[in-house]
Amino acid sequence: MSETLAPVKPGRLIINGEAVDAASGATFTTTNPATEEVITTVAEAGAEDVDRAVKAARAALDGPWAKMKPIDRSRVLWKLGDLVLQNADEIARLETLDNGKPIFESRLVDIDMVARCFHYFSGWATKISGDTTNLNPSVFTYTLREPVGVVGAIIPWNFPMIMVGWKAAPALAAGNTIVLKPAELTPLTAIRIGELALEAGLPAGVLNVLPGKGRVAGEAIVKHPGVDKISFTGSTEVGQHLMRTAADTLKKITLELGGKSPNIVFADADLDAALKGATAGIFYGKGEVCAAGSRLLVERSIYDDFVTRLAERAKKMAPSDPLDPKTRLGSLVSKQQMEKVLGYVETGVQEGAQLVAGGKAQPVNGKGAFVQATVLAGVDNRMKVAQEEIFGPVLAVIPFDGVDDAVAKANDVFYGLASGVWTRDVKKAHTVARRLAAGTVWVNMYNFYDPAMPFGGVKGSGFGRDLGEACLHEYTQVKSVWLNLE
Ligand code: NAD
Repeated sequence: MSETLAPVKPGRLIINGEAVDAASGATFTTTNPATEEVITTVAEAGAEDVDRAVKAARAALDGPWAKMKPIDRSRVLWKLGDLVLQNADEIARLETLDNGKPIFESRLVDIDMVARCFHYFSGWATKISGDTTNLNPSVFTYTLREPVGVVGAIIPWNFPMIMVGWKAAPALAAGNTIVLKPAELTPLTAIRIGELALEAGLPAGVLNVLPGKGRVAGEAIVKHPGVDKISFTGSTEVGQHLMRTAADTLKKITLELGGKSPNIVFADADLDAALKGATAGIFYGKGEVCAAGSRLLVERSIYDDFVTRLAERAKKMAPSDPLDPKTRLGSLVSKQQMEKVLGYVETGVQEGAQLVAGGKAQPVNGKGAFVQATVLAGVDNRMKVAQEEIFGPVLAVIPFDGVDDAVAKANDVFYGLASGVWTRDVKKAHTVARRLAAGTVWVNMYNFYDPAMPFGGVKGSGFGRDLGEACLHEYTQVKSVWLNLE
């Protein structure tokens, strides 16, 4: 049962340490996709607000943030992680209201990840350093590892709070300042974390949060000459557009884009574990997960049985109220997304796939963008449903014959974000892991993330890495210093 809900206060922009309205006074509403009710209004940033935020970020970069000792920056980031945990119930509820994801996920997975990002990267603030080099006795040479500058972070609606952690924690640890734009569908948790950052002691202007439209606030960030780097997570189409736009001002850019990740089940796998992994791989986050294991490749000798068991499992996963702690399948983010997903199911059936579970909208209390857990069997890897990112709870199950066929089918796709391998054969696991064109390979597990493990794609899934030590290279640049000793 849902709890009685306290009203959500209107969201405002966070610029230079203050919650403010948009210069134009414009606002938009954000809606709960599960109930179709307006949650609250939110200030809508325009180009003028972006300009103010970038100037504030630049002033903070050259001023208080640069002057703060790394150990003090570290303490602020740690405190922000603590504050996220202390306000976990409130932030998790906001996330579920805004996005439709089960409160179970918001509370136990997303909050935990955000807090761990700030805690983990707080440790890095004191450990980023250059090298001394030994090239000539008559010169002293060394490198400095410096922040890139003002980072424009543009994030999607599927993991609104996690993405704040993924982008802000390392960028701040490396000494940058940020102008962050959450997705228009899900602005609330980014604003809340921006408020908590101020409470944690982050100086004014270091983290600015600008909810607004991609084509307005997003474009203004990417075009602004005062922004040094764009860190983008979102669709491939928008990523390509941003890369072209960023070229005009020669910004550094990293792109975390879409995926169509293969999850490969060999006949020698622990099939009970593989079944759970295949289900969680696609239905976690309602399938609105960039790394979703949306192409399930199953070895032909076990294919029919596996599909039968998968369908049974999917049929038991009825969508329900996202605020109910028992719910495991929530509402998609919007009716528009629901229509897109259902359109793909129809396309799959027209292409000759068999619908063995789900496939329909299933409103809860007569409302919402809920879609059943859906399994399409007998899918050919060249079908649209095997090649295009659906971004919903729809699994395409494809048969294969042996290792080479599995690898060929897995890699025969535009994207290269993640992948899974299920086998008891250690040699097979490692050789297949090497041959997969993907930024992440999970073996006998799926959909696991940690701030210490880099995450990002190859091919159509973009370039650059979030998380891990690897991402700190994206947020720093090296300066070579030569000193004549003669
Ligand atoms: P989207 O590309 O539509 O939007 C992402 C962000 O870009 C939003 O904040 C949006 O407002 C902004 N934007 C849109 N047009 C813009 C423009 N012209 N200029 C500047 N900013 C603009 O993506 P989405 O629909 O919000 O998210 C879903 C997509 O994100 C999926 O393709 C998914 O795979 C991808 N994703 C990738 C990862 C990853 O790590 N690789 C993680 C999560 C989501």
